Amino acid sequence: MPDTTHPDPFVGPDAPVVDADAPDLEALARWLREIRGYGAFQMMTRSARRERPTNDPFASDRLWPDLDERLWRAQPTDLTKWSRHPHPGARLVLAAHECCPAHLLDLLAEDEWPEVRQAALGNNALPPSRRQARSAAEPVDWLREAAEQPEPDVHRRCVRCGYPVKRPDRFLTCSIRCSIWQADARMADGTYFRLGQLGPDPHPALADLSWSWPDGYAWEVAVRPASGGIPGTGPGWGTVLVSFVPGIGAVDCERAVGDLVENQDLTAREAVSVLRRLARVLHGPDVLEVCTTVTPVSHR
Ligand SMILES: [Zn+2]
Repeated sequence: MPDTTHPDPFVGPDAPVVDADAPDLEALARWLREIRGYGAFQMMTRSARRERPTNDPFASDRLWPDLDERLWRAQPTDLTKWSRHPHPGARLVLAAHECCPAHLLDLLAEDEWPEVRQAALGNNALPPSRRQARSAAEPVDWLREAAEQPEPDVHRRCVRCGYPVKRPDRFLTCSIRCSIWQADARMADGTYFRLGQLGPDPHPALADLSWSWPDGYAWEVAVRPASGGIPGTGPGWGTVLVSFVPGIGAVDCERAVGDLVENQDLTAREAVSVLRRLARVLHGPDVLEVCTTVTPVSHR
């Protein structure tokens, strides 16, 4: 399905939804939005498009729909577990939560994901002295400068540039442009792994890598600009894998899975399971070293 059949999700649910084959609907959409809202237009036009279902980055509501409530009732030991959860979306919810204790916020304010650090630095429960200390080491310029203010204004701002986020319900960047830039940077530094990186002749057991990857760790991100000339169209999307082993990126995570598959005669799903168990007791780089240096079964 070409991208042009989908509205631009960055402009919000109030935006006119336009069928490329019937451009006069744009005026109707505008009119209906004014008097009845977006839902009315969807009900009245069979050509109205739904937003493309995506696995948004950091989306935690599908994985843990009641996490906000659970955190209110959580014991201190449970909060500590959530602060170490391998999914950055879980840590993000905790970092933004009113019940998150100061010592955990202090840790989350130096998280490897800037979105998590942003939430922690903006949480009022983080003592000012700790905010000053953590913001001084913050590598994202706008976030460091904002967090150093007496009353930090860091919420609902694009993690890349600091401009307001238009769709805080789905995206943590301000625009398609920032999302594409972010995806490029994260593919370059190994935070994201695209299936196309597997190469032309991957191990047969890696053919189902995306299905073997843990649920919630494959995200759909903007990778190409919107098609030119057609209003309201969204960007081109691509699926990226993110790491489920804290301390290493997705590229290293995939490498560890690949080495286990090749050297230990495991399926991709079995290798992922081994990696997850190792990650409970070892730091990410140590997990990687174990997986990439273990003696191949054929050499025993
Ligand atoms: Zn931005």
